[in-house]
Amino acid sequence: MSLPTLYISHGSPMMAIEDSPARRFLLQLGKTLPRPQAILVASAHWESPAGLEVSLAPHPKTIHDFGGFPQALFEIQYPAPGAPDIAARAAELLQQEGFAVKRSTTRGLDHGAWVPLRLMYPEADIPVAQVSLHHGGAPAAHERMGKALARLRDDGVLIIGSGSFTHNLYELSGSSSNTDVPSWVSDFEQWMHARLQKNDRTALLDYRKQAPFAERNHPTEEHLLPLFVAMGAAGDAAKAQRLHSSHEYGVLAMDTYAFS
Ligand code: ZN
Repeated sequence: MSLPTLYISHGSPMMAIEDSPARRFLLQLGKTLPRPQAILVASAHWESPAGLEVSLAPHPKTIHDFGGFPQALFEIQYPAPGAPDIAARAAELLQQEGFAVKRSTTRGLDHGAWVPLRLMYPEADIPVAQVSLHHGGAPAAHERMGKALARLRDDGVLIIGSGSFTHNLYELSGSSSNTDVPSWVSDFEQWMHARLQKNDRTALLDYRKQAPFAERNHPTEEHLLPLFVAMGAAGDAAKAQRLHSSHEYGVLAMDTYAFS
């Protein structure tokens, strides 16, 4: 059984320590997949001004890239080994596709990577590398990135795009357990889900113009762009399967999709 690619909504960093449906889902997700040799994450929280960047750190540090959260969150470490060989191969594949790629040997794991990975693979024994988003790039550039990386799947690499299916932090409402979903969120979700089911790439890549309330759900695009990396890496004929759907703060859709 070959590995799918994944798009995971990582939500608030509180998911690391606070029970929620999405957290419970991620706690069992790792057990349902064939064990990867390594993991490559494209996270919403790494937009390199250099364009594209990959991390070759042999022992990536845990980055606590958030503020205003309980001390317990800042004390969490996710000591997974790095995957410098996979990262170097990723950089080569991206360059062959025409991307300019910078290599970092010091960049660690941001919370878009370690929060879900720590739930999926608590032993922290699978090597992890990260690739940045394409700075200023459109969905199409991120799908192309995914296509370039697809061959890593032959080597047992699990490719994960980590973001949030909807992500308007200005309109968070109530507590994390608020599941009262406004229609501008559910309309967007339903539109996206229907196109994902049909693998309608033309519409998906143009979501910003075509999807209802696209800008309201994603005032900036970085939390949706990892979806296109995961989609591209699964190939043109990939089937999307929604593995999980829930909501936090009313407006954060916590969907996870597998592409295979
Ligand atoms: Zn985030």
